[in-house]
Amino acid sequence: MMQDVCVVDTTYHKVMRELRQAGLDGILLSDLANIGFVSGFFTEDSFILISGQGKVFITDSRYYEVIEKKCPGWQVVCVSTQKHLKDYVAEYCKTWNIKTLGFEEDKITQGLFAELADHLSGVDMKPVGTIVKHLRMVKRPYELDCIRRAARAADDAFLHVLKLMKPGVREYEIAAEIQYQLKKAGMDGESFPSIVAAGAHSSRPHAVPGEYKMQAGDFVTIDMGAKYRGYCSDMTRTVVIGTADAKQKEVYDVVLTAQKKAVAAVKPGLRCCDLDQIARDSIGARGYGENFLHSLGHGVGLDIHELPTVSKNCDIALEPGMVITIEPGVYLPGWGGVRIEDTVIVTEDGCEIITKIPKYLVEL
Ligand code: ZN
Ligand code: ZN
Repeated sequence: MMQDVCVVDTTYHKVMRELRQAGLDGILLSDLANIGFVSGFFTEDSFILISGQGKVFITDSRYYEVIEKKCPGWQVVCVSTQKHLKDYVAEYCKTWNIKTLGFEEDKITQGLFAELADHLSGVDMKPVGTIVKHLRMVKRPYELDCIRRAARAADDAFLHVLKLMKPGVREYEIAAEIQYQLKKAGMDGESFPSIVAAGAHSSRPHAVPGEYKMQAGDFVTIDMGAKYRGYCSDMTRTVVIGTADAKQKEVYDVVLTAQKKAVAAVKPGLRCCDLDQIARDSIGARGYGENFLHSLGHGVGLDIHELPTVSKNCDIALEPGMVITIEPGVYLPGWGGVRIEDTVIVTEDGCEIITKIPKYLVEL
């Protein structure tokens, strides 16, 4: 799997088309995922300025050399104590005749914005934080391959830790093992800190793994993912230590039924809000509507949570190549909870489930 430079070139043209449509002469990117998407290079503390006249990477001495080498076709400049980001941005706005400059309002500090606004005379700055994010929704084959590979490694790590889970094992031990297994498999690492929530903790959708020792009869929810070449996967399974009781089986079935219904419904043209509703109706019909606390899912890619959000507030229609999660859950405070999550790729006629761990209730 080689990242092809020409694809990144296509991305530049797509960004330019969006900029023209938005009436912008250029855009300053500060979102590191967007910077990686547009340049093919993932870095920190860097910015990109793009206009119809050219594209420049603004970085510092730590990354200058490698960016120059890895990003042919880009101008690369280096900030220093004498020359700041604002100086370069002002210089390029002048040279490239940028009068309206887009910026990513959700990835810039108030301080930096004020500094730029102050320094850029005659340049109108416009918040356009979603332009590149929208372009990231439909993935290229290379990106899909990376996400599939991340999902496969996460599946393997999950199967590995399943063998270690028994009464007396602490949540954080399992979380640490997941991290180790993913690194050992050649992943960048986790796509987010794993959630390992046992017993009553499983009623908290975003529980942090702690000292709690698993006990017979506990639900354990593991929500985890891998990152490979910048791309994330995301999966949740809930298992039982020992034997499940009747209530656990019932709640599990409520969630699994909703999850399967939603996965079966995925197809191009379906709006995210309608997909969310399918799972919500299914859980509601079983009397647990109040206990499904979050949206059904989210887009996955360079960020673990990205567009489209699969929630009642999102009317984006699914398209082939989008990658989303389907993760309904039912949470009963003080008792526990169940969440089942797959990452799926939207295809021409449905979806491809790339998280392949079986979904029946596993009793360990
Ligand atoms: Zn997850
Ligand atoms: Zn998720």
